[in-house]
Amino acid sequence: MNNPTIFQFFHWYYSPEGNLWKHGKEEAARLASLGVTDVWLPPAYKSAKGIEEPGYAVYDLYDLGEFDQKGTVRTRYGTKAEYLACIKAFHENQINVLADIVLNHKLGGDEKEQVPVKKVNEENRTEIISEERHVEAYTRFTFPGRNKQYSDFIWDWHSFTGINETGSIELIINEYGNGNWEDVMEEEFSNYDYLMGNDIEFRNPHVREELKKWGVWYTETTGVDGFRLDAVKHINPDFFPEWLEYLKTHFQKSFFCIGEYWKSDVQALLKYIDATRGMIQLFDVPLHFNFYNASMQGENFDLRTIFDNTLIKEKPELAISFVDNHDTQPLQSLQSTVDFWFKPLAYALILLRAQGIPCVFYPALYEAKYSEMKDNNKVYVELNKVDAVENMMKVRKDLAYGTQRDFFDDPNTIGWTREGIDEKGGSGCAVLLSNAGEGSKTMLLGARHANKIFMDCCGGRSEKVKLNDAGEGEFFVNGRSVSVWIPEEQQA
Ligand code: CA
Repeated sequence: MNNPTIFQFFHWYYSPEGNLWKHGKEEAARLASLGVTDVWLPPAYKSAKGIEEPGYAVYDLYDLGEFDQKGTVRTRYGTKAEYLACIKAFHENQINVLADIVLNHKLGGDEKEQVPVKKVNEENRTEIISEERHVEAYTRFTFPGRNKQYSDFIWDWHSFTGINETGSIELIINEYGNGNWEDVMEEEFSNYDYLMGNDIEFRNPHVREELKKWGVWYTETTGVDGFRLDAVKHINPDFFPEWLEYLKTHFQKSFFCIGEYWKSDVQALLKYIDATRGMIQLFDVPLHFNFYNASMQGENFDLRTIFDNTLIKEKPELAISFVDNHDTQPLQSLQSTVDFWFKPLAYALILLRAQGIPCVFYPALYEAKYSEMKDNNKVYVELNKVDAVENMMKVRKDLAYGTQRDFFDDPNTIGWTREGIDEKGGSGCAVLLSNAGEGSKTMLLGARHANKIFMDCCGGRSEKVKLNDAGEGEFFVNGRSVSVWIPEEQQA
């Protein structure tokens, strides 16, 4: 059994002139050779902004690039046929496909309605600051371009809890909410049900039924193997367990599932895990922020604390670790890009340890160059490849197995070893990282490696390290770097 590795195969600014589905099809074999077991693809349905947005501003869940809606037939990433061919290519390479499921909101309604609303205080959403009144808003979705194919469900204001078309957040007074937002776990702004667009009303049983029906249609149509659930912080925690149970019963199988609960406080993540009975793995957002802080603080950061208050420490079996993603990349509102020098160190910390399932972000292998207007200036961004990542992925696939021994005994130089396992011949490795100067450390790999020679495959150290009779040796690392030591005969 290989170590699982997830690859996020897109970034926020992936060019609409490109065709991500074709690109994915072409890269499937290479990703498999690097040990990728699961690929996370972006939202595949038509956005309210057509190809001008990555897909999180959902318009029509049933339009996977098949209908002439919002300016094009294709989505930002290609047509439905290209999407299905891309998934097939991943499957042919034994890679599971995780679909990005965006169900918190919809945008780009087809018709206006008179919607009964009350205005709320944006900083304190449970505080009502106006009388009930009617405002005109695009809350009716009939999807004329699709003409009822696959579903004749019409979304209208009864399907939503809130809108923001008047420039301020309005709570819809429908028959399901009695003038209240849905109960979400997040207490920021006193209630964080509302994020953007028309916020979906999960207390409406017709909405739940339609989304279950869509889940079955989507899974059958595409053959996806699991889901990445967007913005779960803003969704009633009862909904996804019910939705997943429904799919599990229907298909008689479980779906691997990762939730995005964007919060650096690990206690909030643990609370959500309890509420969803451990059915949903979560991205380790607190770990990302530890990486970010470590990258900003340089040698003043105590590397022994890198896993403090993270999901990978508190609940490793449900943690999905990552360094950066499409929300943290430069120019995004949540921008918190891990500084470039630290990325190899962070990738070693997620790829080469026993805990958590790592998710590698697209630019680490493919780079990303893009620009956007900010305050009337064109801002150019270049995210370079992280050269060490490819080798680290191979080490994860072939060598990073077995007992883990930690040597977290110095604020600036930490390391660990993996002993290896019989089923993976020649496996085992030693990892040493420094956020200050050059360093060294004596570390034990175990008797199976007695007297073996180890070499660095990532950090530019050229010496050979010979282990003693006990399988222990002194390893080295350059300043602000990471070295990954592997048996000499494994060196490519
Ligand atoms: Ca919501």
